[in-house]
Amino acid sequence: MVCNALAQISGICNISAMVNRMRSTRSHTGNRRSHHGLFTVRFSKCQTCQALHQSHRICMNCGSYNGRKVIDLAAKVAKKAKKIATEKK
Ligand SMILES: [Zn+2]
Repeated sequence: MVCNALAQISGICNISAMVNRMRSTRSHTGNRRSHHGLFTVRFSKCQTCQALHQSHRICMNCGSYNGRKVIDLAAKVAKKAKKIATEKK
């Protein structure tokens, strides 16, 4: 409770010790923030084209994962080019 000087002199202001029940300790804050750290992205070499890609992700250079072709990137690029060409008309 915030009391101004006039209220204190006249005795209107009732100063009471307020207890904040939802107070989080430094320990609780630290525990919560222990998962907030950033981590560096790890790269690994593609088995097919030897390019660097994020580990446990598809290689965006050749579209393969673990030596197996997953997506056909050439077809995807061609499809996108076709779509752009039709939109411009
Ligand atoms: Zn690759």
